[in-house]
Amino acid sequence: MDPSHGSDRDSSEGVSGGELSNESPLDVIDARAWEAFERNLQAREGHFAALGETALNLLRRASDASKSERELYIEELERTTNRLVLDTKQSPHLEQVVLPANLSNARILALSTAQSDGGYLTYAEEHIRNVLGPDVDTITLVPYALADRDAYAEKLAGRFAEMGYKTRSVHQGNPLEEILNAQAIFVGGGNTFRLLVALHETGIFPLIRQRVEEGMPYMGASAGSNITFYSTSSTNDMPIAEQLPVMRGLHFFRGGLNPHYKIKDPNDPHKGESNAKRIHQLQEDQPNLPVIGVPEGDGILCLNGEVSLVGKGTKPSILFRGGGEELEIPKGDLSFLAQRYEH
Ligand code: ASP
Repeated sequence: MDPSHGSDRDSSEGVSGGELSNESPLDVIDARAWEAFERNLQAREGHFAALGETALNLLRRASDASKSERELYIEELERTTNRLVLDTKQSPHLEQVVLPANLSNARILALSTAQSDGGYLTYAEEHIRNVLGPDVDTITLVPYALADRDAYAEKLAGRFAEMGYKTRSVHQGNPLEEILNAQAIFVGGGNTFRLLVALHETGIFPLIRQRVEEGMPYMGASAGSNITFYSTSSTNDMPIAEQLPVMRGLHFFRGGLNPHYKIKDPNDPHKGESNAKRIHQLQEDQPNLPVIGVPEGDGILCLNGEVSLVGKGTKPSILFRGGGEELEIPKGDLSFLAQRYEH
């Protein structure tokens, strides 16, 4: 553990101090939290899971159907989606259960940020090409995390064009159809709550999950990466949306992500709140929720179930395992983030 990181916490403000540990993250997460947690998820599968299942079945049928039949499936899917949205609003006590996704065919690039001095997404170009593979020529954009969707889509379109890719955007067509037919998607950053509300209102949340399980490449930056985890509670964002969404992410990865992770400067005389302190506070309430803090310049790459930490960032990523424990994570293997649950 980097000693400068240890000074990032301040136990005098009610946050328990971190314990350094030499155990591997895999041992600790598996043994202590996740098996029990995932069993618990299965046991609580209920109302929302049943509706979600209906939606997924409709989607499967829609993908195989002829164009005219597809319209009918999509209409029924919209009705199911509306019920999901309504039930969530009317019965906030009913927790939406999102089981871990099957990653065996998944291609995911979850970047901490899209910005860099070299230009938007420049530092990640190699990984973008890698995750898209040779067959993708068009990327479908999901710009819901920003208020000005047109401007964001235009900016992304320009950047991807420079890399040789065409783009479409979900907000310029029927979002369900756009996702159903997408070769690959890019979910942009902005505000995580705004993004989640839009994904549920348009009904594309379960569809994205299904298409990713089937092998459609998913790229996300920041808010678009937060939602690739089980929980979105570890976002840095303000809950700006009027209607608060269910806080579950797409559950490609275990736990939660803290993007733009910054280690506090130990020489800063102003003792402001750090990312680490907020994560410790989160884990006081949710001790079994591991959180990975990923600094600028890095991201998480998943290729057919193999998960790794990649990028050009110069700061370490930190795994907060709960109970005040922190572990520096070097570039490379992140397989402990992938689910073990078979379904
Ligand atoms: N606001 C961030 C973004 O750029 C998300 C976060 O910091 O949690 O999408």
